Amino acid sequence: MKCFVCGGEMRPFMEKFFGMKNLDVCEYVRCEDCGLVVAKTIYEMPQKNWEALNRECHAAYQNTNELAVDPNWLARLKAQAAVLTDLIKCGVLDKNCNAVDYGAGDGKLSDMCGSWLKKFDAYMSRPNENYLSAEELKPASFDFVITCSVFEHLLGAGDVEKIFALLKADGIAAIHTLICEEVPRDPNWFYLQPVHCTFWTNAAMKKIFAQYGFKACAYHVGARLWLMFKDAEKISRLENSDWILSDDFVDYWKVKPYR
Ligand SMILES: [Zn+2]
Repeated sequence: MKCFVCGGEMRPFMEKFFGMKNLDVCEYVRCEDCGLVVAKTIYEMPQKNWEALNRECHAAYQNTNELAVDPNWLARLKAQAAVLTDLIKCGVLDKNCNAVDYGAGDGKLSDMCGSWLKKFDAYMSRPNENYLSAEELKPASFDFVITCSVFEHLLGAGDVEKIFALLKADGIAAIHTLICEEVPRDPNWFYLQPVHCTFWTNAAMKKIFAQYGFKACAYHVGARLWLMFKDAEKISRLENSDWILSDDFVDYWKVKPYR
C-alpha cells in the first residue's frame, strides 16, 4: 500500500481490537516518509461495510460521541464560532460570501454563526433548507469551506479532493482535526476511534498544503482551527494576535499530548 499523500511506502504500524460487528481488529499502517497513518482494515473494506460501521458507532454512542472523545467539545465550538464571526468583522470573509460547513452534523456551528454559513452533511438527510444538497456543492464556487472533525474520517485522496475542489481560486479552507508531529504507536491512544481512519501529521499536511496551492496559513490555538489561504494577501487582515501565521502549514503540535 502506498501513501495517498506523498506516495511513500505504508508499513505495518499497530493493531487495535475493537470487537465490533463491523470492525473486529483494525490494522494501521504508517507512511515511512510523511508519517501519515491510516486504518488499512477500513480502507480495504467495502463501502457498504464502512457505512454499516458508521451506523453501528452512531447507535452505540449517539450524540455523546464527541463529548466522549473530547470533553472540551462545546467550549471549542463556541470558540470556533467566535473566531468565524471575527473573520467577517476584520474583512477576511465577507458576510455575503459563499461559505459552507462541510460535514456539519447537527449544524451547531452554523447555528451559532448565523445563516451566512451554510451546512452540508453527506451522511445526514437534510432537516431544513440551510443544508445544501450534494448537487449544490459546485466545484470552485466557495469562498470559505470549514471542516470540523472531518479529516480523520476521510478515506484517501478522493475525499480530500472533494473538499478542496469546492474552493474558488482565492478561497479559504478552515480545518479542525488532530494533527500531530508523530502518531503515537499506542493502541490505547484516545484518538483511535473505530470510525477514525486517517491520522494526519504535520509533514502530511505540509504536502497537502503545497499540492493544493495554498499560500498562507494561520492557526488559532484556542479554537484549534487552521485557516489555509489560496490568496496570501487576505491573511494580513487578521487582527487578532491569537493567530500564529506562516507561509507554510503551521505545524503547531510538536509534542505529546497533542491537544
Ligand atoms: Zn506519506
